[in-house]
Amino acid sequence: MVVERTFSIIKPDAVERNKIGEITAMLESSGLRIVASKRIKLDQDKAAAFYKVHADKPFFQSLCDFMCSGPIIVQVLEGENAIQKNREIMGATNPDEAAEGTIRKQFAISLEKNSIHGSDSPENAIIEINHFFNEKDIIS
Ligand code: ADP
Ligand code: MG
Repeated sequence: MVVERTFSIIKPDAVERNKIGEITAMLESSGLRIVASKRIKLDQDKAAAFYKVHADKPFFQSLCDFMCSGPIIVQVLEGENAIQKNREIMGATNPDEAAEGTIRKQFAISLEKNSIHGSDSPENAIIEINHFFNEKDIIS
């Protein structure tokens, strides 16, 4: 099994409700290890660059506004099959469709304010990690 890294954001809705610890505990319980972490606040340019794949979607501006609305926790997670494992513990994008026991089922308050982001492929994991971290700041 390959050890991978993936990129995670605890989104403003979850940070605002003081859920960093509970969400992090669920990530760790699933076997993932946090190898880099910091609390930051996005600006519009950074949010738009991060979500540029969604630039033509009707929810794009609202999503960028939400992601800039308060502090977030950006993290690098490491483990076997980390990208898929993280997507599984996150749950479906829409919390109404998220499975029991997933982070979004437990914490999300809407389709937009769904508490957590996770990379969806190895290519995007590398791109997303590089948005926020230098290699020297990731300690396995
Ligand atoms: P995921 O975060 O599960 O990878 P997407 O990449 O499709 O989902 O969407 C990115 C983020 O945009 C979602 O996590 C959610 O916050 C928001 N979003 C997605 N679809 C919608 C929608 N139809 N309306 C409002 N916000 C949305
Ligand atoms: Mg996505």
